[in-house]
Amino acid sequence: MIGLISATAAGAAARDRLAAAWPDRTRVYDGPVADAVPRAFAECGQLVCFLAAGAVVRLIAPLLGDKRTDPGVVCVDEAGRFAVSLVGGHGGGANELARAVGGLLGAEPVVTTATDAVGVPGLDTLGLPVEGDVAGVTRALLDGEPVALAAEVSWPLPALPLGTRGAYTVRLTDRAVEPAEREVLLRPPSLAVGVGASKGAPAEEVLGLVEAALRDAGLSAASVAELATVDAKSGEPGIVAAAEHLGVPLVTYSAEELAAVEVPNPSGAPLAAVGTPSVAEAAALVRGGELLVPKRKSQRADGRPAMATCAVVRRPGRGRLAVVGLGPGARDLLTPRAEAELRRASVLVGLDQYVDQIRDLLRPGTRILESGLGAEEERARTAVAEARRGAAVALIGSGDAGVYAMASPALAEASDDIDVVGVPGVTAALAAGAILGAPLGHDHVSISLSDLHTPWEVIERRVRAAAEADLVVTFYNPRSRGRDWQLPKALAILAEHREPATPVGVVRNASRADESSRVTTLSALDPATVDMMTVVTVGNTATRRIAGRMVTPRGYRWQQDPGTAPQEEARTVPHARTQEEPQEEPGTAPLEETQEVPQRDPQEGAR
Ligand code: SAH
Repeated sequence: MIGLISATAAGAAARDRLAAAWPDRTRVYDGPVADAVPRAFAECGQLVCFLAAGAVVRLIAPLLGDKRTDPGVVCVDEAGRFAVSLVGGHGGGANELARAVGGLLGAEPVVTTATDAVGVPGLDTLGLPVEGDVAGVTRALLDGEPVALAAEVSWPLPALPLGTRGAYTVRLTDRAVEPAEREVLLRPPSLAVGVGASKGAPAEEVLGLVEAALRDAGLSAASVAELATVDAKSGEPGIVAAAEHLGVPLVTYSAEELAAVEVPNPSGAPLAAVGTPSVAEAAALVRGGELLVPKRKSQRADGRPAMATCAVVRRPGRGRLAVVGLGPGARDLLTPRAEAELRRASVLVGLDQYVDQIRDLLRPGTRILESGLGAEEERARTAVAEARRGAAVALIGSGDAGVYAMASPALAEASDDIDVVGVPGVTAALAAGAILGAPLGHDHVSISLSDLHTPWEVIERRVRAAAEADLVVTFYNPRSRGRDWQLPKALAILAEHREPATPVGVVRNASRADESSRVTTLSALDPATVDMMTVVTVGNTATRRIAGRMVTPRGYRWQQDPGTAPQEEARTVPHARTQEEPQEEPGTAPLEETQEVPQRDPQEGAR
């Protein structure tokens, strides 16, 4: 029984809603709360108090005994905003009660128990079909009860508090089994079904064959990842319809590719028809795996020859490597997708200082493999090796992980036996650009001045090319204690083609706590003020300083001569914009600024 106690009219209203929703599970305790709370505490397994947490703490403090036997107590505030699990989170079921009450009253459940506060992924949010006692097993996970993992196939799960024993089980299986009590079945997409069909094979015949093959082999249709066949059959209506019915993609392979697959039951008929001795078995086996159902033919009631064949393969579990850009530093410049990938991982690989940046986002139990500066190759190898072992790995980098960062060394290592997911991040040039104004409004490049891995001649050639092409240039890795002459040299090359007054933006620690920035000029920049936490953006010949901001005009012709600018047209005929020249809303290009900053022909500016 759940005892309900309230003191005010608002509390009583919420209390009555709860009582009406759960008439058989609740009992209202009227009268002064100083009497009602102790009575309810003695008589009920759980309490919901529509009172301040402090008041409840004082009232129950003298009554508390043992967390295994005390009732679970939930407090709901006057405004009904929060349902706080106060005591008995696990034993008394207060965490679950807070969630249930929150759901009913529209209040946010507040749960401070360790495992709950950091969050366990909902079993129904893993992207796998799930069956069985989802509510019960989730509750057990949330309440920190032991839950066993029974993995019959390998699959890259996120960090989950799963052990080897427990009253509850999460079973990862592609078998056609029913969930036991206190068990959840997760269905990995481990099965590939190869199908072949003669022209005009009816959909029911193909589908009936596939379903019978799965049934006879004791396999679950929920684990079928794809229907596979030969290119020539990509439009065969019966196969297309069967894939649709099963809700899986139809994947096709060339006859050549299939002919190269070794199969137990080749035959002459498909060889003559489509150029491979096996369609069903070869298409199922082409990505490797274990042949669970060798080729079988459909059976027709009318005794006519079979028109369809199928074979079923269990593919090896594929690991997952997410290459995740964390953005320049600020938490709100970390994308929701990056956050989701961090929580999706069971292994995190990264530079120690970046790990610190996001440690609080990781799920408990995430294995963290951090290393110091300079260990790039090792980090890349580690991340790929973990993924190849079947884990869900997140490899992190600041800014964008593909920009002077971990993505390239990792993907240079990675073979096609793992899945790779890239999550873009806000790179330093963009973070700095937003702080400086609009320096990247026209063509621009990034150049790293680090000659640790790139010969200086190569870097210099690129700087020269950028100078000649009048590109806005952002220098990454501009200067360190050991590398102090490269930046002055690069600036000197640009100065051969740009005025001394060309605006230069210097941004240090963009979006971090100690961010600083300034706009100076090519001649006035003091390289000594630049370090490795900094990017330097040098304008092109059209870049101007306007109201303290760095602005590079976009260079479209209408900006040259505002008098003839087709701004009216753009306003009235927005569809007149072409794909090649997407224009910003006319309103965002104030005439005054475009007049102050006439676009020059880059060639004219280049000397
Ligand atoms: N992957 C990163 C770049 C790594 S190279 C990204 O996409 O941003 C490291 C260089 O990036 C540093 O030397 C510095 O020049 C630049 N950098 C990275 N983060 C920065 C920030 N928050 N502010 C300024 N510069 C930054």
